[in-house]
Amino acid sequence: MKRTFIFIMISIMITASCSRDKEIIRAASSITAEELREYTMAFGSDSLMGRMPFTEGEKKSVRLLASYLSDIGFQPAFGDSYFQEVPMTEITSSVTAPVTIRNRYETINLTSPDDIAIISPSKQTKIELRDIPVVFCGFGIVAPEYSWDDYRNLDVKGKCAVVLVNDPGLYTGDTTLFQGRTMTYYGRWTYKYEEAARQGAAAILIIHETTGAGYDYSIPRKSSISSRLQMADPGTYQCDITGWLSTEAASKVFGSEGYNVDSLRLSACSPDFCGFEMNAYINANITNTIRNEVSNNVAGILRGTTKPEEAIVITAHWDHFGIGEPEMGDSIYNGTIDNGTSMAWALEIGEAFAALRGGTRRSVILLFPTSEEQGLLGSGYFVAHSPVKTDSIIACFNNDMLLPEGRMKDFMITGYGKSDLEDMLARAAARQDRYILPDPHPETGMYFRSDHFPFARAGVPSLFARGNCDSREFGKEWAYEREKDFLQNIYHKPADNYCPEMNFDGIAEDASAIFEVAAKIADSDIFPAWKKGSEFAAKRMSKK
Ligand SMILES: [Zn+2]
Repeated sequence: MKRTFIFIMISIMITASCSRDKEIIRAASSITAEELREYTMAFGSDSLMGRMPFTEGEKKSVRLLASYLSDIGFQPAFGDSYFQEVPMTEITSSVTAPVTIRNRYETINLTSPDDIAIISPSKQTKIELRDIPVVFCGFGIVAPEYSWDDYRNLDVKGKCAVVLVNDPGLYTGDTTLFQGRTMTYYGRWTYKYEEAARQGAAAILIIHETTGAGYDYSIPRKSSISSRLQMADPGTYQCDITGWLSTEAASKVFGSEGYNVDSLRLSACSPDFCGFEMNAYINANITNTIRNEVSNNVAGILRGTTKPEEAIVITAHWDHFGIGEPEMGDSIYNGTIDNGTSMAWALEIGEAFAALRGGTRRSVILLFPTSEEQGLLGSGYFVAHSPVKTDSIIACFNNDMLLPEGRMKDFMITGYGKSDLEDMLARAAARQDRYILPDPHPETGMYFRSDHFPFARAGVPSLFARGNCDSREFGKEWAYEREKDFLQNIYHKPADNYCPEMNFDGIAEDASAIFEVAAKIADSDIFPAWKKGSEFAAKRMSKK
């Protein structure tokens, strides 16, 4: 009797979960290449003026997103509004006198921005470093899980910390040191700035090196002379001056005291290495021009049926660069691929959720953050001021720069090896006859460079995945060339325009697979976890 009862219960459960799987697959069929194309055309249109925060283009873009959210049946996520105001400060720094580093032998003049690319994140208008001691701090990393502390026995309070880019794993070929060639968050400049500030340093300089940075010196050079946005309230202490030393300038500064930067880098890869105070003092003056502005995140919610206080988040930033320097007669930076295609991807996933009969147990949030291009500001603000508790955000799925290049055999995971979401995705990908591919360039730290990252830092398992490297029709070489062409000729240029040759079949498949994973989580009690050894695991431990 009892056994029969259990048997019946199990049968009911299996039938229920099978029919639920079928229902998920049925709802996923609402995702179509045609609709992805229509959304993308709209987001890439000149009428949105390049979707720049604080401009008329922002007003039009966020209104359009809110109307789409309403059309697909999502409710406003912020009380009765689809908009969340994000207060930001725009800072333009200018270096007003030559930067000098003086040691006992000579005074070295560093030209800004060619030798040294510095700014001040401070809200003071005048910032001065006068004869501040310079301390070499290895990679500038404090990582208890790797028993690593570059700041041990060093006092950098009120001083200028100079550190190496990336992390020790990149430079030795030892795959057990940190994560080998895969950059950990400790390798990112943002982390190095944060750690130096925690240590009380007045200034932080990173020695540039192209492989370790993932880009050449022209990138930090250019951003040091451009206006930047930051949170109106950064929440934590920041160094007064932050920036980069070019490879040549670093050779000059270290060479003058008899050090070779390349040998120092190799020594610093040993856990026994100790940083040291140099016999050098830095002088620098910066004037800041400050403007306060408000931009908007846009989000809609489908409330869960039994656990509405828990949510999963699907996200894609709405902002791009507006109207700027013309190239080949075009001055509108439309950002069709960055990030129109991903917004289309998110809306199509949203529509599939809305089509799911009976809804889901947990809530689903579609989030379009502002100011991703300015340093993940909108998503960072959302995480700090989320309409659901951060601990109750069960998972985050983000996309950025989805290439409309047709169906792919691969499902490339940026930041591979971090969470259970990857295993769930592998099952969905297999059903599409696709395979999981770790990002072939993990040393560039791409996982830390888009909107899922503020979620990951807060402990939310987050997935950044798409088909990218292996075209079903034309193979790997072709896909590689197409991506290379995009990065060289289209990325962050006015040429990022819609064109009719775009093929959305691959993005449709991506969206279906992500929807399948997201729907299973939204409709269950599953708490996806970080994998052991992930730098974000500690934040979520208590949830397991
Ligand atoms: Zn982007």
